[in-house]
Amino acid sequence: MLKSSIKIFLFLYKFKNMLELKKSNYMTILKTTYTYINENFYTNIAIAYSHKIEAIDSLANLQIKFPNAIIKETKANTVLYPGFINTHVHLEFSSNKTTLKYGEFIPWLDSVIKNREDLVAECDNRVMKKACNEMLASGVTTFGAISSFGVELEVCTQTPQKVIFFNELIGSNATTADMLYADFLERLDTSKNCINKGIIPAIAIHSPYSVHPIVLKRAINVAISEKLPLSAHFLESQAEREWLEKESGEFLDFFKKFFSTSRAVTNISEFIESFDEIPTHFTHAVQATKEELAYLAEKNHSIAHCPRSNRLLGCGRLPVEELITLGIPFSVATDGLSSNNSLNIFDELRASLMLHHQAPLDKFSNLLIKAITSVPAKFFNLNSGLIEIGKDADFAIVTLPDMPSSVEDIALQTILHTNEVTEVIIGGKIISS
Ligand SMILES: [Zn+2]
Repeated sequence: MLKSSIKIFLFLYKFKNMLELKKSNYMTILKTTYTYINENFYTNIAIAYSHKIEAIDSLANLQIKFPNAIIKETKANTVLYPGFINTHVHLEFSSNKTTLKYGEFIPWLDSVIKNREDLVAECDNRVMKKACNEMLASGVTTFGAISSFGVELEVCTQTPQKVIFFNELIGSNATTADMLYADFLERLDTSKNCINKGIIPAIAIHSPYSVHPIVLKRAINVAISEKLPLSAHFLESQAEREWLEKESGEFLDFFKKFFSTSRAVTNISEFIESFDEIPTHFTHAVQATKEELAYLAEKNHSIAHCPRSNRLLGCGRLPVEELITLGIPFSVATDGLSSNNSLNIFDELRASLMLHHQAPLDKFSNLLIKAITSVPAKFFNLNSGLIEIGKDADFAIVTLPDMPSSVEDIALQTILHTNEVTEVIIGGKIISS
């Protein structure tokens, strides 16, 4: 009995070794100067990966474990990060450079309406591909694309990045809302057919002022029943707040002019409460009160923080210190080129770092790195955003210009000195932008 147990044990041991050896044939061992694990920067750590992260150990130990693996040792002062996640971008306006009017929200919205057709016509696949590449060059391996018409889908299936494809619902007028809802469902179905091309089907609600509560409820129910990621623009501008609270202000003229109405379709509390059953990623929330933020925290919602877009559209500053106190997870996102001058995620991090001047520098820099890695990965349930065994082999390698004087400063120095990353790896494959 003992003998046969030993035999079985030996067989299993050999079999395991055989599997490891076979695995090592298609494995890469990567050694950078620093590796970002559990919000810390470690030296003398290497990782072994195929399309997923297989092991994390010293280089010597990994070489013993996977003798046939390709060894990749980078130059000095490199940092291995999980691939970055930009949760909120509109690709369809990527052709805008100097056309739209910045400074205040309603004049900007008027300029979007005025120039919309031209901007969309100029924004062909080549322009959108360039926008994806700009994100890629800054280390973005996953992004959330807000899509009004589905025109971005083809480019999103071709880009090497993973794309959370947010099919956007819009329609405040009860008579046309049904038709717009049917169109939304059709676009959602089309995106579901592209799952094998890196598309993660998702739903976006345009805003509280532009979506009728009846279709809003239907879309939220679809997100709940099909477990789809859900996002919504929310309290971006002072004008939006005034309209939803008092049906007055600049939005009154806007709705009278374009929709012949002087009534808002919902109010702030009714809108927020519609999302009680599903944690949602609210974009902007700049004009939310402490009480509203506390409500978002209570219902496990998260926020997309777009500092440059908010600045350019005159919307104000998101009080991130309140979010931190309340424990609301937040991402940092670029928004689209309709309200930004680049889609480089490092430009956005720098803007956030400078905007929140009262935040402790090192601590906040570390929080900003989390806001483009583990935090969005967690609320969108992505198998990335962390360097951890079993996670997807999505990486961004950053090279610092010199040796950092302390590991505590690495996040800050990365944010200050990086425009383009040195290398991007998605699903274990090196991607050139
Ligand atoms: Zn947006």
